[in-house]
Parts: sequence; C-alpha cells; structure tokens
Amino acid sequence: MQDISSIDLHKQIQMHLECLRLSGVEWLESNEFSNFQPTAAMISESLPLANMVGSQNLIMEPSPSPVIPVQHSLEKKSGLLQQLKDEVAACVRCPQLVQTRKNTVFGIGKIEPDICFVGEAPGIIEDEKGVPFVGEDGQLLDKIIKACGLSREEVYFLNIISCKPPDKRLPLVTEIANCKGFLEKQLALVKPKVICCLGSCATENLLDTKVPINKLRGKFYTWKGIQVLCTYHPLYLLRNPEKKKEVWEDMKFLISHLGRSLPTP
Ligand code: URA
Repeated sequence: MQDISSIDLHKQIQMHLECLRLSGVEWLESNEFSNFQPTAAMISESLPLANMVGSQNLIMEPSPSPVIPVQHSLEKKSGLLQQLKDEVAACVRCPQLVQTRKNTVFGIGKIEPDICFVGEAPGIIEDEKGVPFVGEDGQLLDKIIKACGLSREEVYFLNIISCKPPDKRLPLVTEIANCKGFLEKQLALVKPKVICCLGSCATENLLDTKVPINKLRGKFYTWKGIQVLCTYHPLYLLRNPEKKKEVWEDMKFLISHLGRSLPTP
C-alpha cells in the first residue's frame, strides 16, 4: 500500500510541474528532474497558483520525448549545449558510424536565432572538420544566407544525424532513431524562431511525414511549437540548378515571415 506521505509528495510534484508549465516552462531536463526535491517554499508557492486554475486534480504525464529546459539564460544554454556536444562525441550507438567517422558533427551557430537550418548528415568535409555545412553545398548555403541579409554567425546549423554515413549513403532508420534525442534536445535548447528543413531526409524525419518536399514547401508547419519551413537541399541545387528559383522563393517567404527585409542590391 502507498503511504500517505508519498501520495502527498506525488500531488505536490504534480502541482509544482503545473506551476512551471503555467510560468512558461515547457520542457525539463530528465536528469535534473531525477534529482528534484521540492522544498517547503516551492510547495507553498505552488499552491496558490495551482488553486487559481483549479488544477488540483491535474495529472501530469511523463513527457514522451527528452525533457528539456527552455527557460535558461543564454550562458546556461551554451553550457548545456557543450555538455550535449560532449555526449554526442562519446556516443557509440551506431557501430558502423563509430567505425567510419573521423569526427562527430554537432550543431553550430547562434543560440535563439531567427533561423536554424536542419540538414541530413555530415559529408566528407564536415566529418574531417567536425563542423556542419562547410563543404561545397555548405558554401552554396552560405551564399543563400548572405542573400537573405544574414551571416553564418546569425543562424544555427545542425543535421538529423551527427556522424557521416559511409559511401555517401542515406542515414539508416536506426541511426536516425539513435540520434533523435540529441537532435531534439539541441533544437529545444537553441530554440530558433523558425526551423528550415533542407531536403527530404530532414523534412520527413522532423515532420514525421512521407509527403514529398515539393508538396510541402511554401507553407509553415510546427514542430513542438516551433515553426518549420522546408525547401530543397543545397546539394540538390548543385545538381539541379533550375531549382534555385524555388529555393529563393522559399527564402523570401521565410524572411518576410520573420519581419525582416532583404538587403538592397
Ligand atoms: N549536407 C548536410 O545535410 N549536412 C551537412 O552538414 C553537410 C552537407
């Protein structure tokens, strides 16, 4: 039988979580939460708010995905991202990728940017340098970003998986699943205004869809409350330059959606 004090504690934790939610906290770090000990002050502070919304009976379900803090200072986020980067560097979940990678490739750029570009997987140059989007397609992406009036330092870049697949193959379903927690934690910490998915792999996996990218582009979707726009991958543009026009349409749409203006020629 459950003892009465553990039932009370359970209710108090539920109320505390509800108070956090009401004050704007959407995600919590699971390992932070595992050490969570409500103090008397926390509990007494939480009661009036919980009463106000009549939420005493509210049941908080455990979050299905990694629970993440979003209400941290930029400095704290930068520390948490470094911690996550170290975890990625030590990750050995995908045996083939661990054998063939030179470096893991973690995201890079501004925290809380207007745009976060999400690609597929590191290529040869990215694997060598440990930095996303620095190969030929990355250089094309840099030009697109510049044409939008932004610099590399003002946006964030990351990939669906953090290790280069061998022989230029697509990431495997298992590899994507193994990396999903890292991707989601990173996105929640970086918290861009808009995620721009580059190509089918990023689009299908982030939006969990099989609808082809040519049908999805030109509209905004949401991922955990963040707006998402998808467009063609710059590598696809290198092979199909006639598609540059459509990407430029997408970027103009994105820039005006953000309330920014394009640089004057
Ligand atoms: N292509 C990607 O999808 N990501 C990179 O980092 C580089 C090339």
